[in-house]
Amino acid sequence: MHYLTRQIAFEASHYYSVPELSDAENYALFGATANPNSHGHNYVLEATVKGRLNPEHGMVINITDLDRVLREEIVAYYDHKHINLQHPTFANNPHLQPTSENLAIQMWSALEPRLNGTILHRIRLYEDSTLFADYYGDGQMVYFTKVYEFSASHRLHSPQLNDAENREVFGKCNNFYGHGHNYVLEVTIKGEVNPRTGMVADLHCLDETMQRQVYGRFDHKHLNLDTPEFENLNPTSENFVQVLWEAIEPSLKPIKLHRLRLRETPKNHFDYYGDEI
Ligand SMILES: [Zn+2]
Ligand SMILES: [Zn+2]
Repeated sequence: MHYLTRQIAFEASHYYSVPELSDAENYALFGATANPNSHGHNYVLEATVKGRLNPEHGMVINITDLDRVLREEIVAYYDHKHINLQHPTFANNPHLQPTSENLAIQMWSALEPRLNGTILHRIRLYEDSTLFADYYGDGQMVYFTKVYEFSASHRLHSPQLNDAENREVFGKCNNFYGHGHNYVLEVTIKGEVNPRTGMVADLHCLDETMQRQVYGRFDHKHLNLDTPEFENLNPTSENFVQVLWEAIEPSLKPIKLHRLRLRETPKNHFDYYGDEI
């Protein structure tokens, strides 16, 4: 099976509002995104299709055909528009919030019938570089990712090895006084979209958990010296992503954590799905 991803961008405005609520109540529910005058984003959409190669042209789908469908179904309806007021699906249903989750589902239903036998695999919609929704055509199930960045130092050093062995295995990462990173943590949660808020989870809950369990415990710390988790545990990114999972996952419940991706540098990242996989 081959997978092909095409990206397009569009610029649009929106706001979140439960029609029965007052402006003040909507602000309490949605924060600044409730501004009834709207706000906007530079959205980026990645559409991934899959299929066997056509034996004649050696492609899953002709990009020209895919681009035309993306232009007709996405750009024409969203680019430089006010989604709540001008997109027919959302304008006709004021209870449907134009969140990334609901936009991804809407885009799937618009694109999927137009692909002439090619299978739509995934819709990924970026609201900005730190927030995106993934949809795989599975009912109301959406994967939502938010990206957080924090700073910490560490020294790779295993208590099971002697000093020479540590130098041999970890090289300059074994530097006695440590070194540091801007860690980037992608937090992916999954769940059914809440029909009232249009969201998989309350973002305040997610941000608050991250504030407490990640920033409060690990930001601007020396992992080996400042955090009890690494008193006797080598702070490799594999160990760190698991420690982060154990810090975040219980606090998020009932929000379901799907995956943590820890980027130690732009050149490497480490994924952890908990014990289930
Ligand atoms: Zn927004
Ligand atoms: Zn390091």
